[in-house]
Amino acid sequence: MRNLQGMRSATLKRIILLGTLVIILIITLQLYWLKRVYALEEHQFSTAVVKSIRGLFEDVEMAEENGEDVKKKVERVDNSTFVIRTDLVPQKDSIQYYLGHEFEDFDVWTDCLVGVYSHRDKAFAYQFYLQTAASPYPGTASTSLKPVMRDHDYLFLFFPHRSNYILNEMKFWILGAVALLLVLVGLMVSLIYLYRQRFLNELQTDFVNNFTHEFKTPLAVMKIASEVMVQPDIITRPDRLKKYSNVIAEQTAHLQSQVERLLSTAKSENSELSIQSEPCNLNEEVAGAIEKLEPLIQAREAIVQLVRDENEPVILADKAHLQLVIINLVENALKYSIRKPEIVIQVQAAENNHYAISIRDNGIGIDEKYYKKIYHKFFRVPTGNVHHVNGFGLGLNFVKKVVDAHEGKIVVHSVPGIGTEFRILLPKK
Ligand code: ADP
Repeated sequence: MRNLQGMRSATLKRIILLGTLVIILIITLQLYWLKRVYALEEHQFSTAVVKSIRGLFEDVEMAEENGEDVKKKVERVDNSTFVIRTDLVPQKDSIQYYLGHEFEDFDVWTDCLVGVYSHRDKAFAYQFYLQTAASPYPGTASTSLKPVMRDHDYLFLFFPHRSNYILNEMKFWILGAVALLLVLVGLMVSLIYLYRQRFLNELQTDFVNNFTHEFKTPLAVMKIASEVMVQPDIITRPDRLKKYSNVIAEQTAHLQSQVERLLSTAKSENSELSIQSEPCNLNEEVAGAIEKLEPLIQAREAIVQLVRDENEPVILADKAHLQLVIINLVENALKYSIRKPEIVIQVQAAENNHYAISIRDNGIGIDEKYYKKIYHKFFRVPTGNVHHVNGFGLGLNFVKKVVDAHEGKIVVHSVPGIGTEFRILLPKK
């Protein structure tokens, strides 16, 4: 169970990475494809314009010799500008009439600025704006053309809206690409959502399992004790009576503290921690926390040493929360041990006007790569079932919240197999 969390986040990362790569690949392919379609449409447009001009040469007399290849007369200055060599200057009316028809015949449905250049006058003999039937640009008829220098007469065609026209022709391609992309992104988002949902479900299952385990043992012990106590001859055995009532009292205290901790975590979850600051002496709070853990310390046969600060280390803090913080850290120091626990707790003045409380143990230690994660809710270091220590993975999360609420800091330093030190820095106020 412990290993699952690591595995799950690794799988999630891999899925997201793979999904992102696939999306990037598809976007690249789509862009490449759209570029190809654009080039194709552009080519088609030029061909249609050349065909229209060829038709115009048949309709209007512009060349001295018939039968000369019209294509050779056409010069494409740029994608939107065509210069067509003519041998004479044709009539405006006939150009206007026939060119319009040719464009319609060859499906050139975008407006065109037409100019007829006279080499003799070194200027346009005339120019006009040829509007297509369904032109979306009614107001642009006044644009005037600048001639290019050629030593012959020519017909000048400029299509001001060519790019838009081509893009418009491609609109179904573009819409298709966008739709596909949206579908892909949607798919990815729902995948992540589903995966997260499953992840949360599993977290919940882990939590319920831990919870059950944590409460089952004390309850079972209490059940046995009470069974002993209801035996009729118990009155005659006051030593047994005392022993088993003590067991029940201890287990109840343990359960109570567990419930309190769960409740305070749940409360800190829903709202900002409400801190009730009052002057408190860190030496005393730490000693108080150790006293509360005395039964556990004895059960583990642990050596706990408290090194107090000589000057009275008084700060403004929430006493109850602060004690819970120390209890959590010392309890972890007792829990995650591989030998007889030796724990040193020290209160001392620290840099930048702070007090430091450090809790040092000789336990299993924490690998550096988990230093950040141990404060996450429900996180427990995966140990592959090497040890069987119960917990909810909530303790350090709570500790961090309390320390943050006091504008303090918590740092961990650990050597796996040797031990761990948690150091809490709280500002002197
Ligand atoms: P838990 O209820 O699991 O103890 P915590 O939030 O208190 O939850 O701690 C998170 C994890 O950090 C623990 O599961 C444990 O793997 C690791 N850890 C915390 N304190 C220590 C320590 N003193 N020594 C080794 N590991 C620790």
